[in-house]
Amino acid sequence: MRSIKDNIDRQQLKGVYKIDCSCGKSYIGETGRSMKIRLKEHTADIKNERSRTSALAEHSSKTKHHVCLESARIIAREDNYHKRKIREAIEIMKYPQNLNRDNGSEISGNWLPLIKQMNPPRTLGSSGSEIKGIAFKGLLKAIKVNLYKYIIILI
Ligand SMILES: [Zn+2]
Repeated sequence: MRSIKDNIDRQQLKGVYKIDCSCGKSYIGETGRSMKIRLKEHTADIKNERSRTSALAEHSSKTKHHVCLESARIIAREDNYHKRKIREAIEIMKYPQNLNRDNGSEISGNWLPLIKQMNPPRTLGSSGSEIKGIAFKGLLKAIKVNLYKYIIILI
């Protein structure tokens, strides 16, 4: 079971996060501050129906779906701005059912087949420590982890 403290700690993390909607679509975002601050902004955007500036607010306002801000989670911790933007773009590409208006950083479509092979990232463990990387098996794991590093370097 997750303690309250774990939840607080997790909210202090910065990186790429995912917010699910009740319809099954997701919003991928990134923050260099903390997820807690960013979630407050999303909450205000939705409450005030800032559809022009917020994709989440627009979706919520149009559909009346429940945007599950309470279960938002960091899917990749990353302090470095450039790497975070790339990681965000990769995650957006990995979740075609997303509510994002753009694809974040410019990533060549040539990477798409490779990115699609990557499994969805694990979320943070209940201990609050990150389960690093992506769930792979055996040799495949090593190969893909290295490919991921190359993507970061090459983009
Ligand atoms: Zn929805």
